[in-house]
Amino acid sequence: MPHTYFKPSAEHMRAALAQAQIALDAGNLPVGAVIVHHDQVIASGMNAIDYPPDDTHHAELRAIQSIAPFLAAHKGECTIYTTLEPCMMCLGAIINVGISSVVIAAADSYVGALNLLDGGDYYRMKSGKLQVERGFMADESQALLNEYVRRTGGRAHLASGAALQVAGTSSDTPGGRT
Ligand SMILES: [Zn+2]
Repeated sequence: MPHTYFKPSAEHMRAALAQAQIALDAGNLPVGAVIVHHDQVIASGMNAIDYPPDDTHHAELRAIQSIAPFLAAHKGECTIYTTLEPCMMCLGAIINVGISSVVIAAADSYVGALNLLDGGDYYRMKSGKLQVERGFMADESQALLNEYVRRTGGRAHLASGAALQVAGTSSDTPGGRT
């Protein structure tokens, strides 16, 4: 059954970006996420893997876990907005809890897992129901990521223009992978 047309909301992505800003101000990589049901934000989360240290404290996963019983009762009805392409862990959680669509701002060619959606029978079957919108308000998210890299020097692959060098897929990028 084809998906009905899905129009991402700038207001909801701005709410996710606000979470990313809070993460940045706390010294964490700026990633934010909100979960929307019937056009209402019902959960939010921010990345908090550095302070305090916990490598599972990703924005998407924290938002999901904060309303897990609701999601279990409303499968196929919720959308998640995230400011950075989800990793394998978060994308798996998004699929497992039955979120129906995901709106992504900036791409993450290094950790992002969208290219894994076709892998494995279980996820191929499940992800066939998932609508994915990429690059929505990516510039706003990228500005926060650039600021994080400028402040900390960390995760430089997320800085604007660095993705191709990390991926090593470009043959015409001066100073790229050698
Ligand atoms: Zn993640």
